Amino acid sequence: MQKRDELYRGKAKTVFYTDNANQLILEFRNDTSAFDGEKVEQLDRKGEINNKFNHFIMQKLEAAGVETQLIERLSDTESLVKKLDMIPIECVVRNFAAGSMCRRLGIEEGKELSPPTFEFFLKNDALHDPMVNESHIISFNWATQEQIDTMKALTFKVNEVLSQLFSDGGMLLVDFKLEFGVYEGRIVLGDEFSPDGCRLWDKETRKKMDKDRFRQGLGSVVETYIEVAERLGVAL
Ligand code: 5GP
Repeated sequence: MQKRDELYRGKAKTVFYTDNANQLILEFRNDTSAFDGEKVEQLDRKGEINNKFNHFIMQKLEAAGVETQLIERLSDTESLVKKLDMIPIECVVRNFAAGSMCRRLGIEEGKELSPPTFEFFLKNDALHDPMVNESHIISFNWATQEQIDTMKALTFKVNEVLSQLFSDGGMLLVDFKLEFGVYEGRIVLGDEFSPDGCRLWDKETRKKMDKDRFRQGLGSVVETYIEVAERLGVAL
């Protein structure tokens, strides 16, 4: 399998073609961004940590019956994935109020949400990823009702599996974002799962252990990602 030209350069990952038309290589870079790319910094080892973390989580999800794009980890910073036809929608489940939900609804950070909430956002930095509903998704042909139902069910399934996994490591899975694509007609989990795209708090102290450390200038970003990985038993 040969790495070919760059297909797409995202804020934290670069996607490359391979000599197989159905497979791509993801390269996890050290770039760390927030506020739709307004704040960007290079954090030493972040690409490697997120690549290894993502590989670990995707394997756990596959074992639980959630099909993911991951094929194999190729190096410290690269993974081979299925080439999905991406749906431009972010699926967010929240177990505790934080982030944009608190700003939007005036809810106090940390309030437990029972049952967890589910939200769709349009993936569009220029528009600051606005919240959309099922009606928008169908009218604008971003996905079908059947695809929406599948994405929603899979996101809740991921919440069940990962809430338990993080809980076993002494952490609360506060919220997370998933992106899906279509592969051979099936809805498959794409993008990545790492502390860049979820919120994790220590169960006892509620210490923030995710990208909010970067967003809020709390420091020790990569050191804390490493602590999360170690608590889960990710081999670094
Ligand atoms: P919020 O809506 O509170 O900003 O984000 C909810 C959850 O989804 C958080 O865990 C956040 O990290 C994740 N999330 C939302 N949008 C994005 C995004 O564009 N990129 C990344 N990496 N994560 C996102």
